[in-house]
Amino acid sequence: MLDKNLAVNALSQAVSFRTVAGNKEAFVGLHKALKSLFPVVFEKCETLDVPGTCALLLKLKGKSSEKPAMFTAHQDVVPADNEQVWTHAPFEGFCDDTWVWGRGSFDDKVSLIAILASLDSLLSDGFIPENDLYFGFGDDEETMGHGAQDICRVLSERGVKLDMLVDEGGAVMKEFLPGMKGLVGAIGVAEKGSMAVRLTVKGEGGHSSTPVNPSPLARLGEAVHRCEMAHFPVKWLPCVEKMLSLVSSELNGVLGFAAKHNKALRRPVSKVLCNIPKLAPFIRTTCVATMASGSEAFNVISPSCNATLNLRMLPGQKTEEVIEILRKAINDPEVNIEVVRDRAPSSIITDSKGPQYSLVKDVLEKVYEGVKVIPYLMVGASDAYNYESICQNILRISPVAMNTEELGRMHGVDERISIENVGKACEFYTSLLSKL
Ligand SMILES: [Zn+2]
Repeated sequence: MLDKNLAVNALSQAVSFRTVAGNKEAFVGLHKALKSLFPVVFEKCETLDVPGTCALLLKLKGKSSEKPAMFTAHQDVVPADNEQVWTHAPFEGFCDDTWVWGRGSFDDKVSLIAILASLDSLLSDGFIPENDLYFGFGDDEETMGHGAQDICRVLSERGVKLDMLVDEGGAVMKEFLPGMKGLVGAIGVAEKGSMAVRLTVKGEGGHSSTPVNPSPLARLGEAVHRCEMAHFPVKWLPCVEKMLSLVSSELNGVLGFAAKHNKALRRPVSKVLCNIPKLAPFIRTTCVATMASGSEAFNVISPSCNATLNLRMLPGQKTEEVIEILRKAINDPEVNIEVVRDRAPSSIITDSKGPQYSLVKDVLEKVYEGVKVIPYLMVGASDAYNYESICQNILRISPVAMNTEELGRMHGVDERISIENVGKACEFYTSLLSKL
């Protein structure tokens, strides 16, 4: 039987390592701690080398190699700015009767520790899985995702095709949409893409007392505004249709009506959703300006200025289509458009009628009584995306219960996870692992 206190203590130790991507010393420290916290895991699993990274990859031999499954979580964390305003120092690993505090406690070390603690306990009781199991823990999810790519390459070279993969993603949410009361377990079945586009305008610089209007910055400003207001086509993915239909009974008013009739009244419903910032991203590609630079002085006109847009593309939306939409919206040949970063959306949408999805759904329902489990399109990005070449059934779920406020602390000040959630996560992974 898994001792929840052991997992809580392990999590607080794991948090104390400042594993910001690239900080090798911290990763070495974390690995050493994991080996001493979960000796049975490291004794029974084969450690596979992932050259040139601080990623960890473990293999547990099962009775069969036909349908291997994989569990992933990332070891790295985002930095903690403003350390002095945290209630407890972000890398102290402080814990009280209710919470484990610190950067990474929720994102994503609770999964890392709960997976290992569950496995350690099962193995101590003589667990032998039906199928091979892999455990992959990337070292730079928050920055590049190279660790996960390298893990995937190692598996690919060994000819591994995964039957299912479980990674972070959705959560068990207490207010999934405004006005909802019941618990919703959102399993991410696909991810949106993310593109960074730089707009640059060059022109006449000089002293601001004798300007040529419009200045490069004014042209740029207009272009940025047009991009944000551009019409990206609405597209209804089957997983989004299903997601809204499943939650419609819990929603009131216009939103409830719209969710319920999302198929029959597609046009008006699309219109309603496009005006709700929390829902629009599910049915269309979004665009927002995030960075800008121009002159450094109030009285100098910069001869060149630029702004960066971040676009999140729906699965199926191509880079060229996005650029064409932007070009048409800007309608100004003086504005140069350059793609500076491009990560395509998911090419695979996990089948929410498949046995892998059903298995995770059943386990969630067992751990969280009364939860409504739904498929979900992730609007953010995760490591799971990197495994699409070797796995058709990727399930993105952090098995912890969160309200909007708790979710908001994820990359913010006072990130923490409740001890209750640590226990729930362990219950989830123990139950799921023992069925594989
Ligand atoms: Zn994460």
